[in-house]
Amino acid sequence: MESLRKDFPILDQQVHGHPLVYLDNAATSQKPRAVIEALSRFYENDNANVHRGIHELSRRATEAFEGARDRVAKFINARASSEIIFTRGTTEGINLVANTWGVKNLKAGDTIVLTEMEHHSNIVPWQLLAARCGAKLAYLPVTGDDGLLDLSGLDGLLHDQSVKLFAFTHVSNTLGTINPVAELCAKARRRNIITLVDAAQSAGHRPVDVQEIGCDFLAFSGHKMCGPSGIGVLYGRHELLGDMPPFQGGGDMIANVDFFASTWKDAPHKFEAGTPNFADAVGLHAAMDYLAAIGLDKIARHDQELSAYAYERLSRLRGIRLFGPKKERSGVVSFLLNNVHAHDVVTVADQRGVALRGGHHCNQPLMKKLGVESTARASFYFYNTAGEVDRLIEVLTEIQKFFGE
Ligand code: PLP
Repeated sequence: MESLRKDFPILDQQVHGHPLVYLDNAATSQKPRAVIEALSRFYENDNANVHRGIHELSRRATEAFEGARDRVAKFINARASSEIIFTRGTTEGINLVANTWGVKNLKAGDTIVLTEMEHHSNIVPWQLLAARCGAKLAYLPVTGDDGLLDLSGLDGLLHDQSVKLFAFTHVSNTLGTINPVAELCAKARRRNIITLVDAAQSAGHRPVDVQEIGCDFLAFSGHKMCGPSGIGVLYGRHELLGDMPPFQGGGDMIANVDFFASTWKDAPHKFEAGTPNFADAVGLHAAMDYLAAIGLDKIARHDQELSAYAYERLSRLRGIRLFGPKKERSGVVSFLLNNVHAHDVVTVADQRGVALRGGHHCNQPLMKKLGVESTARASFYFYNTAGEVDRLIEVLTEIQKFFGE
């Protein structure tokens, strides 16, 4: 995998006089030259607005945009391209479901089940919806420092007739937990409960197959999987999309507009009002081709091996608290050093060229559960190396000495 580093021009630089060690991939990944070049090629040759023009460039741009949709469908094994809606990212995808399927189907007294490890973007849209329609929220707990979902109460929770939706993350962005998403979906399906999977941390990091998972909705972001920022995907099962009202109104999503009423196109266009982010969809297409050529299984294995190595080396440091599962974890490791605030760890590491993240990682409820305000987080992708983990340990050891551990 180390040989792939040459595909990422940004990695070859010094930061504050040290070689860059980029370990903030859970926030956003870097982009290979193949994606950067696909974007410039598109802007240099084919750029025009999609779906509207009948000139050559518009035809090419439309073909490229719809080709990207077909590529996404193949990438996540959707049954049809019409199940793929382009969004700005995971957050917008979840808000879309809350504001369309949720508004139409949820009423006072209904329950939305989430888990305690959700990112704010899979909590707040449901809180807004609940406040609007009178639904309640319930949470599947996380087990202590091991950071696994406590499945013992799940059957009981889903048994409640009022539960209409179960939304959960595939991979935790703080704990690195990989959830048994197919099992969770199967349990929900037996009770006719609709499922939404937040795949922000899994898409592009491991194979994501919506038919195998058996979910109704699945959302992810292009920027975390080598694609451009500002483009993401919402997968929705065909049978559900047909009955859902539009998300936003405007150009491109209509069949016919009159002064006082309008009709809509079918999915997915019904959900894509206005000029879509077609150029970045082309970039996302290139990212998916690039990742598929490496192999998603291989990427997952590398993430897991590097994370296991990091976990093992970190656990040998004195005065460290590690979060999340001890094994079977994704490429995310959160930790706290005794007597050193996570922000100080990240600030000093940055001075040594090591990019980490410190904070609540948009997981404030989880932080409260863990009894902390923040953690420091290292997150890996296939271009990271064991040597970079060694450098991280070296820097953390230096920080501990400096702060007197
Ligand atoms: N869900 C999880 C698990 C995430 O890690 C993130 C981003 O960090 C999101 C959702 C939100 O993604 P975006 O900001 O790209 O919409």
